[in-house]
Amino acid sequence: MDAIKADVLILGSGGAGLFAALHAYERNPQLKIILATKGIIGKGGCSRMVQGGFNVVLNENDSLEKHFMDTLKGGGGINNQELAWTLVNDAPRTVHELEVSVGCFFDRAEDGKIHQKAFAGQSFDRTVHVADLTGIQIISRLTDQIFARNINVMEETRGLDLLTTESGNRVVGCVMANIRTGQIFLVHTKVVVVATGGSASMFKISAPSVDKTGDGMAMCFRAGAEFVDMEMVQFHPTGIIAGASRLSGSLLEEGLRGAGARLYNGLGERFMERYDPERLEKSTRDRVARAGYMEIMAGRGTENNGIYLDASHMGARFVEENFPGMVERMKDIGKDLARERVEITPTAHYQMGGVRIEKDCRSSLEGLLVAGEDAGGTHGGNRLGGNGICDSTVFGRRAGDIAALIAMEESLRPYEEAAAERIRMRWLKPFTLKSGNGVYAIRDEMKELMWENVGLVRSGSKMKEAVHRLDGLLEEVESVSVTNRYLTRFNMEWQHIIDVTNALTVSRMVAHSALHREESRGAHFRDDFPETDNDNWLVNIFLTKEDDIGIALSTRPVALIRLKREEIGDLKY
Ligand SMILES: Cc1cc2nc3c(=O)[nH]c(=O)nc-3n(C[C@H](O)[C@H](O)[C@H](O)COP(=O)(O)OP(=O)(O)OC[C@H]3O[C@@H](n4cnc5c(N)ncnc54)[C@H](O)[C@@H]3O)c2cc1C
Repeated sequence: MDAIKADVLILGSGGAGLFAALHAYERNPQLKIILATKGIIGKGGCSRMVQGGFNVVLNENDSLEKHFMDTLKGGGGINNQELAWTLVNDAPRTVHELEVSVGCFFDRAEDGKIHQKAFAGQSFDRTVHVADLTGIQIISRLTDQIFARNINVMEETRGLDLLTTESGNRVVGCVMANIRTGQIFLVHTKVVVVATGGSASMFKISAPSVDKTGDGMAMCFRAGAEFVDMEMVQFHPTGIIAGASRLSGSLLEEGLRGAGARLYNGLGERFMERYDPERLEKSTRDRVARAGYMEIMAGRGTENNGIYLDASHMGARFVEENFPGMVERMKDIGKDLARERVEITPTAHYQMGGVRIEKDCRSSLEGLLVAGEDAGGTHGGNRLGGNGICDSTVFGRRAGDIAALIAMEESLRPYEEAAAERIRMRWLKPFTLKSGNGVYAIRDEMKELMWENVGLVRSGSKMKEAVHRLDGLLEEVESVSVTNRYLTRFNMEWQHIIDVTNALTVSRMVAHSALHREESRGAHFRDDFPETDNDNWLVNIFLTKEDDIGIALSTRPVALIRLKREEIGDLKY
């Protein structure tokens, strides 16, 4: 197999991957850095889709302690406090770097300072933004910086599997596929940064970009890395309903609720009065999403199984000026957000769980750093809006710095050619098989199963069914063949087989972990255990691969190293 030598390999070109590449280069421009991305640089991933903005403490009346407390409260108290503190502490210097070195320009208040708007679940208006399409600014400017440097960019090139030493505890490279040519090759490297952005796209209705299918997490699982709190998947309350259009499931941003937009059920009731009478629509995402889902399940939904979002009372001019992107998006499906209520639905959005990392992004495997949505722990049971892009840029910076240090200290370790070849053959299997069910039917069943059985409202019996069926689906996808066995170039059916294998791998982790947590907390709600149980479940659930594809789970009490349980306050569902 062709092998390319590198000092640092970065997988993914979202906020985490781009910042990692930039910082690794700035630490040492002599390093050979490869930035490989499944999509097109500057276009793929969710960082570009960031709408509302970036949480950061900039105002003298705000404080890091307040941002930290909001993050912990939002997370149901099971956040990794070291990671959460790193997030809030590094955010101001990250925003400073974005403006001063990277070239972003955030919206200004009348006094010329950066404008900060309200987001749900926060005690202070601390979300910086560029209108309601913040991610385009951040990703475009970061991409400019990458192109201005000697960083080797590989587009439409995906990581397939990490290569480890024979002992299995060190990553020495990654077997990759060039989607355009179909070539499989190896990048032999001192350190890999996995920043492929997780993905909640295994659910029937979901918001993430289509290039994301949990690849990084699946690769890390197969390589033996440890994961944390995989049951924690966030559902966003306000996804668009647009029939068969690709826009279905994509978001209307949280700032709308922050600014005063209201939610109604099909009967015209402002239903949040029942679920969180104090904060109403400004309650945290988990509660608002679940409330909407419960209204629909109780038969109080709209014609198309949704609820209504109404921003019209805020005045058409205000909505058009402050949410131009959202207005435009709704216009695409023939709706006038500024003047009429629109139908929406909860949509799978973000994974709080992920690979367990230290604050310098080191994972449980040597030579493997993980940053952004692939990493778990920072957000505990529920991420605050605005803390996602903050996470990917803060930890992407750190990963880049550490990757450069590792690359300067370490030498290239030898790898086992036979192991690399085994990986190649595994992924080429669909070209060698004669029959097998189609991949699209498996994908659709997975999405339906995850939505119905491991979605917003979970129960032991439904999750047991899901665990069992997901095992079956993973077995089935292993025997799927491609229709055209002579075409590897841009063979999207083949790419889908890899995507679905990865999404099923991550789905199994989510389902196993969710079945294990016998309580309700944050985004994880069980109707058979509807209470938060702080006496028994103020714990993190850790997960690793056992034998070939088995899953081993263990729990450890949350390390309350900065704030104790009583100091975080009321930790009830
Ligand atoms: C519609 C929408 C709106 C959002 N709005 C906000 C907001 O207002 N504020 C906020 O804080 N957060 C928001 N988020 C969440 C935020 O986008 C994420 O938290 C964050 O961008 C994740 O960054 P990342 O770098 O980890 O991944 P991403 O930005 O998703 O990037 C992942 C990258 O990995 C690549 N990739 C995938 N698989 C492979 C592979 N096998 N090999 C190589 N590359 C691969 C992808 O092509 C992509 O380039 C929003 C998300 C969505 C979907």
